[in-house]
Amino acid sequence: METVENVVIVGAACAGYTSAIYTARAFLKPLVIVGDIDGGQLSQTSDVENFPGFPEGIQGPELMQKFRAQAERFGARIETGSVTKVDFRTRPFSLTIDEERTVRANSVIIATGASARWLNLPGETRLKGKGVSACATCDGFFFRGKELAVVGGGDSAMEEATFLTRFASKVTIIHRRAEFRATRVMVERAKANPKIAFLFDRVVDEVLGEARVDGLRLRHAKTGEVSTFPCQGLFLGLGHEPNTAVFRGQIDLDEAGFVVCPKWSWTSIEGVFAAGDVRDPRYKQAVSAAGSGCEAAIDCERWLAEHHAG
Ligand code: NDP
Repeated sequence: METVENVVIVGAACAGYTSAIYTARAFLKPLVIVGDIDGGQLSQTSDVENFPGFPEGIQGPELMQKFRAQAERFGARIETGSVTKVDFRTRPFSLTIDEERTVRANSVIIATGASARWLNLPGETRLKGKGVSACATCDGFFFRGKELAVVGGGDSAMEEATFLTRFASKVTIIHRRAEFRATRVMVERAKANPKIAFLFDRVVDEVLGEARVDGLRLRHAKTGEVSTFPCQGLFLGLGHEPNTAVFRGQIDLDEAGFVVCPKWSWTSIEGVFAAGDVRDPRYKQAVSAAGSGCEAAIDCERWLAEHHAG
């Protein structure tokens, strides 16, 4: 007979693992589907200093390992694979993993997080890994003594630029406007760093270089004047996009692609819940994602008790 899972959690980072801990402790035997990156964005960061309970800070990958171990300790089952298709119109719901196997579930918690935003510029894809990166923590090490550009004007850009000064000789933050979106403390920290320079009202039109990045083609946002900016690396500090492509057409998403939750963590389909960055364009913090994972687990547990008791 076909197995029907109580709850399938799609995504394995702060939100997904917290949902797993809670649903496992409620004896729901959750199945967690881990996509490409176990631990999500935190698995690709270094120091995490704002997650409560770690007064000295903790490394992102280590924190995620602890989340996972805690979920497993209570019986969460973890499977690797990408969810390539879902059908939320049938019950039990159906989820296709890696285009080849199907999992049926009475309830689903979506915790697929968000991914770095790219600019889709000429040269950007070709030079990815050859000077173009969206992860300072992952790639900063390779740019010792180099001159770099960071594009963006939010906290991500400030954080990436500040982090990159550990390696680079100079980092220029290139922003398309004259005002930063970033919080004041992050801007002040960047301004106080002697290795950081700023270029305002500039749009990056092209990444230049043959084998590796050797510059950028810039356009002045107001005058239209075109210039060449020499640098050996470009880091995208543009923030993130929700990973919801596979759910499009199945549940309501907002215009930016975030899952819409009309009530608590409930999505537009009863029995499908969402947690973490995938539904959060505002806070995007590890601790808020974990809290949101807890909420989705409790909502899911209550919904199952009402609709699938016994
Ligand atoms: P944001 O959305 O705040 O900022 C994105 C930046 O990228 C904006 O300045 C935006 O420009 C720019 N941008 C977007 N698209 C383009 C484009 N096509 N071309 C040029 N520029 C573009 O994202 P963040 O990731 O920076 O921040 C998101 C949230 O996460 C915030 O709440 C932030 O506080 C938080 N955060 C906190 C951190 C921390 O506390 N350590 C670290 C990182 C993020 P424009 O301003 O013109 O729209």
